[in-house]
Parts: sequence; structure tokens; C-alpha cells
Amino acid sequence: MGKFKIDHDLHIHSQLSSCSSDPAQTTEAILAYAQSNGLRTICLTDHFWDSSVPGASEWYKPQDFAHISQALPLPQAPGCRFLFGCEGDMDRNFTIGIAPETFAKFDFVIIPTTHLHMRGFTISEEDAEQPARRAELCVERFESLLDRPLPFGKIGLAHPTCPLLAGSGGGQHPLQYLDIIDLVPDETWGRLFTRAAHAGIGIELNILLKRLKDEDECRRVLRPYRIARECGCTFYLGSDAHTPAGLAGAIARFEAIVDALELEEKDKFPLVGEPL
Ligand SMILES: [Zn+2]
Ligand SMILES: [Zn+2]
Repeated sequence: MGKFKIDHDLHIHSQLSSCSSDPAQTTEAILAYAQSNGLRTICLTDHFWDSSVPGASEWYKPQDFAHISQALPLPQAPGCRFLFGCEGDMDRNFTIGIAPETFAKFDFVIIPTTHLHMRGFTISEEDAEQPARRAELCVERFESLLDRPLPFGKIGLAHPTCPLLAGSGGGQHPLQYLDIIDLVPDETWGRLFTRAAHAGIGIELNILLKRLKDEDECRRVLRPYRIARECGCTFYLGSDAHTPAGLAGAIARFEAIVDALELEEKDKFPLVGEPL
């Protein structure tokens, strides 16, 4: 089947996301990015918390379905599918901010288990101070997601090794997230990814390898993905672009990941290959 083709990007924000609000980040600009790079499937994944699920944080509250569906109808072009999705979340009690019936409103949904920067909302103040507890939460949240009866064929695990594991900003220890990833043993990743492979959830590839300083740091961040591949997981690319500059850097970012993991077409999340 050959090398994993860079023909999609399933994690993209528009200006409707509070953390973008860049007026240039329009759905037309996103479609133009897809066309100029030969992408055949892209997905809009603005941040979302379902108003029918109680407990939204102040940041999430305005980002409900009425808000994010302002992007509809999405512009379309021959040879490219522009899917409507969202990036949900899981709070500190492992409540997913998407009601079961709401999944049907989306073509694809990504759920991050690594948004551990929202103190008081996704993580308690006490847990936030303890790197070992952050590593445990990374595992427990992933496991809890897999425990649900969800339509995993249209769900992705967003940025599973995101720097936000260590909190926002990074403070004096900007690479602390690598220490947190290191705290999860091979066997634990293996158990999680074996379940993930059986469930059929897509594993997102989003890491920015060029930001890492040497081979050892790359090895540390790539370890979970290598285990996921061994376990039979399938993968999709997600830039998590919030701005036109984010879109502009996406393809080089994807090439570095695909090369480092030596991914092949058979490793691709099936949703990407569905007919136009
Ligand atoms: Zn995210
Ligand atoms: Zn995102």
C-alpha cells in the first residue's frame, strides 16, 4: 500500500474558537490550504462544550453548538471533503462535554485527554502540582474514554502527547511534559492502545518534532506512538492550526512525523479513506 500519504488534516480551528479569534482563520482560508496542498479530507474542529451537559467552564460556555454551527454550511471544492467536527473535552470528573445524541450532529469528533492546563476544570489544584499524578490522569482519562459506548469509528484521540500535559506555559520547565510521558510505562501504553485498536478510535499525529532539541527527546515523545502502531492502532494527521501561520507550517510538521514513525497507508484511520 505504500507510504502514508499526507492527504488530510482532521484537527483545524476556525476563528470561532476562542483561542483563535483570528479573523483571517476563515473556513474559506482553510479550504484553500487543503486545495493548495492536495488534501482530500479536512475537518473543522472548533472547541465545543454541549449546553445539554452541565458544568461547562466559563471559557467553554459560549462555545456551544449554536456558536460553532455558525460555520455551516462549510465551503466545498471538487476532490476535497470538508467535514464538520468539533474538539470536545473531559472535565476533572471525567465527564465528556458532548451528550450521546449530539455525536450524530458531527462527521468526526476529537476528544483530548491531555488538556491538563485548565486548573479547577480538567484537573484539581492539588493534582496540578504533582507530575506523577498528571501521568496517572493521562492514563485514567484515556481509559475512561474507552470505557464508553461511543461511535469510535468517527472519534479521534486529540494530541495524546500534548505539552499541555504539564500545564500551560511550561513555566521554568517547558519540557516537563516529556517527563510526564516517561512516567507511563510501555506496558501501560500497550494496554491502552490495544484497547484503542479494538475500539477503532483514531490516534492523532500532531507533534512538532522540530521543536525538540535532539534524538533523545524525539525518541521520548515518539515512544507511545510506536507502541500504538505495534498494537494495531490507526492514525490521522491533525495540525491543530488556529491561524493561517499554523496552516502554513502543517505539511512540514506532518512529513516529519510520518517519516519518523515510518507510517504506511495501512496505518491510516479508515474515516480518511472514505469515498468523496
Ligand atoms: Zn486541544
Ligand atoms: Zn485543537
